[in-house]
Amino acid sequence: MLETSEDTLDPSDWNAFRLQGHRMLDDMIDYLEHQRNQPVWQPMPEDIRQHFQQPLDDNQADLAATYNLFIKEVLPYALGNVHPGFMGWVHGGGTPVGMLAEMLAGGLNANLGGRDQAPIEVERQVVQWVRDLFDFPKTASGLFVTGTSMANLLSVLIARTARLGTEIRQKGLAANTAHLVAYVSTSAHISLIQAFDITGLGSNALRRIPVNDQFQMDLSALELAISEDKKSGLMPFYIAGTAGSADVGAIDNLNALAELCRRENIWFHVDGAYGALSMLASDIAPRMQGIELADSIAFDFHKWGQVPYDAGFILVRDEELHLNTFATSAAYLNREVRGMAAGSPWPCDFGPELSRGFRALKTWFTIKVYGAEKLGRVISNTCTLAQYLKSRIEAEPRLELLAPVALNIVCFRYRSFNANRVNADLVIALQESGIAAPSTTIINGQLAIRAAIVNHRTTTQNIDALIDATLTFGECAENSAQSQE
Ligand SMILES: *Cc1c(COP(=O)(O)O)cnc(C)c1O
Repeated sequence: MLETSEDTLDPSDWNAFRLQGHRMLDDMIDYLEHQRNQPVWQPMPEDIRQHFQQPLDDNQADLAATYNLFIKEVLPYALGNVHPGFMGWVHGGGTPVGMLAEMLAGGLNANLGGRDQAPIEVERQVVQWVRDLFDFPKTASGLFVTGTSMANLLSVLIARTARLGTEIRQKGLAANTAHLVAYVSTSAHISLIQAFDITGLGSNALRRIPVNDQFQMDLSALELAISEDKKSGLMPFYIAGTAGSADVGAIDNLNALAELCRRENIWFHVDGAYGALSMLASDIAPRMQGIELADSIAFDFHKWGQVPYDAGFILVRDEELHLNTFATSAAYLNREVRGMAAGSPWPCDFGPELSRGFRALKTWFTIKVYGAEKLGRVISNTCTLAQYLKSRIEAEPRLELLAPVALNIVCFRYRSFNANRVNADLVIALQESGIAAPSTTIINGQLAIRAAIVNHRTTTQNIDALIDATLTFGECAENSAQSQE
């Protein structure tokens, strides 16, 4: 037998390790199988929170003891987005298959920055599927990133290079005399505003165009803003349409935006963080019309795609431009035509990250095992559930719908003399009850209970439980607000 290093981190007793590993796997499979019997969420007790403030030390706890800590002190206080009653923000539910794929990826410990290896072919396979899904040409490029926030940032950098040329990468914006300006709707995600801040273009350069009664970017206001900016000698270069807005799930008129961008020679980006994958659902896909005309699309497999966190993605129509925005050479990253340094261009040439995990594997497994049609049905089903929730709200005089339901997000409130206060308290009570977990947003100055149905496990029972609990806690919240008047 070959000797092992005394200092290795591998187990000294592989059999004991194997038993412990099997137990951990079984427990997590049980956890997923019996989600429904657990509360969605429960607050973390203060004394347990304190346990996570210990100093670094040299002690060696054994694996089983550390795992017990995880079971007692981490697992019960997770956010609960795997639970069918979770409806807060826009969180994916994950899948058992995705969990197993994460374990396999951990075992391989692949670094997908580059080099010649099968894991990169897996990522290229997913890129090809994404191209097909959005009807993009074979020359389009794609890259896994953490999430849509990062993908939106990359899109701004690529659009900047498209407009100013690659010299901007050496000279920097300070040397540039053209004043770039860009446009999104007031419902656009904050990551787009951050992207303008981070890139040095400045968030003031991003015009926030008002929305119509369907919460879509107002096209005449957009055209007016563009023509005024041009008159002032500014250079419009980028418009981001949203396909599924974070507040109400609105879809901008992507066809009209594409046409305007073509006419004005402006980069057309689509933030489709969760909405873009509805291209998988034959009944919802027609509402995404125009997305196929984008110069770039940002979206997440970890939301409606149900892939475990994190798995964001950017698709770019012009691969060469994408490469020219990021590729940078260095002697220690030299490329060859054979050997391990073959296979150029590498993923690291398409973005700022060099070391990259194997996000593609859990995505590849998810698509292979469940199939595109089934994943599309899950998406379609969450939209049907949203319509069911809408109909329950409309049938209940104590509740009021606050925004149109375009996709899977429903904004409503409990009617009350002091609605903002009562509904804020109500949502906290719902979350603390563990029955259902919506979040909140503000619609036209009114605080809304916001239910985003993303999880493939959610059923009409969860919707009914949300309505029942909303009515019960609404009454409590109203009584306590009244007694404090
Ligand atoms: C979630 C979301 C984002 C941000 O995506 P992350 O994956 O959280 O970075 C951006 N835009 C919209 C519309 C979103 O819903």
